[in-house]
Order: sequence, then structure tokens, then C-alpha cells
Amino acid sequence: MDTNPRAYERSRMVELQIRSRGISNPRILAAMRDIPRHLFIPPPYNTSAYEDAPLPIGNGQTISQPYIVALMTELLDPRPGDRVLEIGAGSGYQAAILSMLVQHVTTIERIPAVADLARANLAELGFNNVSVIVGDGTQGYPEDAPYDGIMITAATPEIPQPLIDQLADGGRLVAPVGGREIQELITLARKGDSMERSSHGGVRFVPLIGEFGWGNT
Ligand code: SAM
Repeated sequence: MDTNPRAYERSRMVELQIRSRGISNPRILAAMRDIPRHLFIPPPYNTSAYEDAPLPIGNGQTISQPYIVALMTELLDPRPGDRVLEIGAGSGYQAAILSMLVQHVTTIERIPAVADLARANLAELGFNNVSVIVGDGTQGYPEDAPYDGIMITAATPEIPQPLIDQLADGGRLVAPVGGREIQELITLARKGDSMERSSHGGVRFVPLIGEFGWGNT
């Protein structure tokens, strides 16, 4: 019996799509080698789970390209004791990667049916340090704040102020910022009262729909 289905495809994905493009954090590479991405993707697209592409997960939403998941995770610079907030739970895959690298992940999803999918996927694989919350993630989640890391996995015109307010001193935030079609990957690092902002190349994400994103339409 194959006790680790599709491990060879995952290992190839990590070597050819991720390590070869410059991601070097060994903990991130190990998490991406371990977590069965195909179990986060509904059929028929699960057959393509280890290809170099985003894929549909239903409700007009997507799971991000593996390289982009790895890049955003590396930019977040996750540490074992961190408490992290993700906006846009989607399939739950990015939250699963983060949960192997930090102490606790809170992930918010706007669409209840998508949140159910994330919850079911995470529960089936035994990830028990992730809370999936239904709501408008542009407002953050003050109940668990402040966060050492915040990752937005949907496209936003600007970084929502509530998320900046919920970032701990020394914390890092990663987000695709720009237009509805194409964005720039931005990092913010809080150092006391100041914020360091830097840019890491072009990306394409589905829009962040909410009060401090693209509005509620
Ligand atoms: N991180 C996900 C994964 O690992 O599968 C992929 C995220 S998908 C590209 C973007 C997700 O953000 C969608 O599921 C969408 O419904 C969600 N979203 C959009 N606006 C949101 C908001 N204001 N609050 C929470 N989730 C939102």
C-alpha cells in the first residue's frame, strides 16, 4: 500500500517550482513537501494539484500557485512561537503550511461554504492549531490580536488600516496590493512607531471583498 500518496510529485514540485526559484527556508520546504496539497482541492482539479498553477476550489475562488504560497510564507518570516492571522482561508492549504511553522493560525473567510471546506480539510488532516472564522477579514480579528504575522491572500487596493493596527511590534505583514487584475506583493514590517514597506514583484489574486478592501460588491 502507498502510505504517502503523491509524495514523489510533491518532492518534484518543491525542487522544480520552489527551491529552483530561490526559496531556501528549510522549514518551509519541508512543510510543502509534507502537506498533501491534493487533499485541499476538489475534483476534477485535484489531479493537477502539483502543477505550477493556481486552481479552482469552487464558489469562484482559487488555491494559489505553490510557488506564491512558498514566497509569501518566506516573506512572512514565520517563527515557532508566532501567532499569525491569514485573510482568505480558501481551501485551508496556506493556513496548513503556516500551522506547521508557528504556534497558532487564525484564518478568516468571507464565504461560509468556503470556510466549511477549509475547516473540513484542516480537520481531516489533524491540524488543531488553526481557527477558521467566517467574516470580513478586512476588519481583522481583534479578539486574537496583536499578531506577529498577517498574510492577506486576496488582492487589496491598499492594506486595510485595522490589519496594520493589529500587527505586533516586530511583526510582518504580506499582501498583494494594487488593482483588481494585477498587484504587487508588498511586505510591511512594524518597528516601534515606524513601518518599513518593500515590494517583491507582480502577482494576480482574486479581489479582497470587504469594508476596507474593494467594498462589499
Ligand atoms: N489562502 C487560500 C488557500 O490556501 O487556498 C487561497 C485564498 S483565495 C486566493 C482568496 C480567498 O479570500 C477566497 O476564498 C475569498 O472568498 C476570500 N476573501 C475575499 N475577501 C475576503 C474578506 N474580506 N475576508 C475574508 N476572506 C475574503
